[in-house]
Amino acid sequence: MDTDTVVVGAGVVGLAIARALAAAGREVVVLERHAGIGCETSSRNSGVIHAGLYYTPGSLKAESCVRGKALLYEYCRERGIAHRRCGKLVVATTPGEIGALERYAATAAANGAGRVDWLDPPQVARLEPELRCVGALHSTTTGIVDVHELMLALQGDLESAGGQVVLRTGFARAERTGSGFRVALDDAEATQLDCREFVNSAGLDAIDVARRIEVDADVDFPAVHHARGHYYALRGRAPFARLVYPVAESAGLGTHVTLDLAGRVRFGPDVEWSPRRDYEFGRDRRAEFAAAIARYYPRIDPERLVPDFVGIRAKLQAPGLPPADFRIDGPAAHGVAGLVHLFGIESPGLTAALALAERVVRELGAAGRGPALHFRAPSPGADSSHGTDRAKSTGAPCGAAARPSADSTEQEASRCRSPTPSRWDAT
Ligand SMILES: Cc1cc2nc3c(=O)[nH]c(=O)nc-3n(C[C@H](O)[C@H](O)[C@H](O)COP(=O)(O)OP(=O)(O)OC[C@H]3O[C@@H](n4cnc5c(N)ncnc54)[C@H](O)[C@@H]3O)c2cc1C
Repeated sequence: MDTDTVVVGAGVVGLAIARALAAAGREVVVLERHAGIGCETSSRNSGVIHAGLYYTPGSLKAESCVRGKALLYEYCRERGIAHRRCGKLVVATTPGEIGALERYAATAAANGAGRVDWLDPPQVARLEPELRCVGALHSTTTGIVDVHELMLALQGDLESAGGQVVLRTGFARAERTGSGFRVALDDAEATQLDCREFVNSAGLDAIDVARRIEVDADVDFPAVHHARGHYYALRGRAPFARLVYPVAESAGLGTHVTLDLAGRVRFGPDVEWSPRRDYEFGRDRRAEFAAAIARYYPRIDPERLVPDFVGIRAKLQAPGLPPADFRIDGPAAHGVAGLVHLFGIESPGLTAALALAERVVRELGAAGRGPALHFRAPSPGADSSHGTDRAKSTGAPCGAAARPSADSTEQEASRCRSPTPSRWDAT
């Protein structure tokens, strides 16, 4: 056996899973086709630590969001990862939207989503003078995190526990062996790797990866639908100190206000159902964005909106249908020992990552198998050198170390965006 566990995908979820399995005593190899970690959805999102206001009580989304939020705040504190519990206002802009806020308040209570206060317009104006609404819910446990630092810390823990991330290495296919899986890599040498367990955390490509694993079982894979989301940065002074969300749409949370840790404001994401996989921003959408934003921020000046980036949601929800839950298909679902697929890990997947990792550990019966490793917290100020060392050895998160080159993988990586605030030019 070459290794205990292969994880496909070095996004925030794959890294969290690999770290948790390594802590449970597994020898873990993460395969990532790009030149850096987190090059896809994990570096193209709002960076929000969600409280759990929206998700059906008892669903995997609800449970993993609330549990993941608690684990994430604790992990950020322990590891000195930049984050801020800035809070969020969900606003009703017409009396007809108050009912939606009432439903969120009830869902938040059922989910144990932390403190949520009702605010009337004068109370809102004291917190956010630029905001217009007829009422709001204030979620005090919602926050933001530097996803880039988070992924580096997860990778660091994995490596401290003896695991590794292998970059520029795609998964090609796998077949069952007597004791696990034989994994073929997508490299010139057609390298093969034998493992006992296989975790498919390939994000937008999870179905494709699942189909390339030969198993003697009837497997039923869900259809995944892609919904693009565009973000505009706001040039100039930030009008808000908190996250601001309108009432959610059927496939997204509405064109909301996100903040980065430098306090810069970004609006988005919208929802565009499309099978496209590129991250080109495309046509000018400022008029639609300005109209959506003006409902709660009437002084929006469309000239201050600058195209920023695009993210793609992997949804099990089809257009026009109600939201679907996350899906973790382990041995109990498909009957194949040692195999776990994660499907439809859209928002709040970043918030939920550490909780989803706990679930996968349970699916594989890995809890308690090995020594519970205690990950060493870095000394204050050690984070940056830690990241630099890793950039030399195994590659930094996407965007930080990527440079254009003739190699197509590198070229793809060079188009990735970095969530590091200093690299986001919102002006
Ligand atoms: C627009 C948008 C906004 C969002 N906002 C939030 C938010 O504010 N808060 C929140 O909690 N969540 C948010 N999310 C959700 C969150 O970003 C995702 O749930 C999370 O990033 C998913 O991580 P992942 O590791 O599953 O997938 P990814 O980050 O996509 O990682 C999958 C990895 O698998 C690799 N891979 C795929 N196929 C192969 C292969 N054959 N071989 C090798 N590697 C392969 C890919 O290269 C990729 O790096 C948002 C999502 C979107 C799209």
